[in-house]
Amino acid sequence: MAKKPHSRECRPCTACCDGWLQIRVNGMPAYPGHPCPHSTGAGCDDYEHRPVDPCVQFICGWRMEQSPLPDWMKPNEAKVIVLLDQHRWRGLPVDVAVPVGRRIPPRALNWLRQFAERENRMLLYSEQIVENGAYTRQQSVSAFGPPEFQRDMAELASRGESLPPAPPAPSPIRLYPGRA
Ligand code: SF4
Ligand code: SF4
Repeated sequence: MAKKPHSRECRPCTACCDGWLQIRVNGMPAYPGHPCPHSTGAGCDDYEHRPVDPCVQFICGWRMEQSPLPDWMKPNEAKVIVLLDQHRWRGLPVDVAVPVGRRIPPRALNWLRQFAERENRMLLYSEQIVENGAYTRQQSVSAFGPPEFQRDMAELASRGESLPPAPPAPSPIRLYPGRA
């Protein structure tokens, strides 16, 4: 797959600070519609003191070294946060895509589907559930891949389970560390 050098910067993206990934920052939850209080919408107002977990450690798939994602897939622009290689299914990598907003826009979702097909990867992507005009903290998750993958994901979901995290690997397609 195409590789990109590690030359990307987060700013002005704050998508992962703004609750779309549902994180806790110094014990305080951030969730859809409820960003981290330190997010200015274009950066962090306490960057020097941001906690290691999750702030220093986390980096999304667009920002990571040798990212296969194109420039236009920057999360604040494409409206999707991609987490590469989060799980394994029958030995194959499983990527996760989370919308920045209610749902992943068609252009970004089409790119992710084509990437999954071309690279023989599985894809789980979510949509925020809205009730009474407000985001809940729930998502519906769709599986993209062969019928066996979709069936396995449906069975896991029916049991209230999910795939375990992918084991640590030397692959460059992993999370971490640091953001600029
Ligand atoms: S790690 Fe990714 S989602 Fe988070 S601010 Fe940087 S570019 Fe945006
Ligand atoms: S980097 Fe700053 S704004 Fe982003 S989650 Fe951490 S403390 Fe909040």
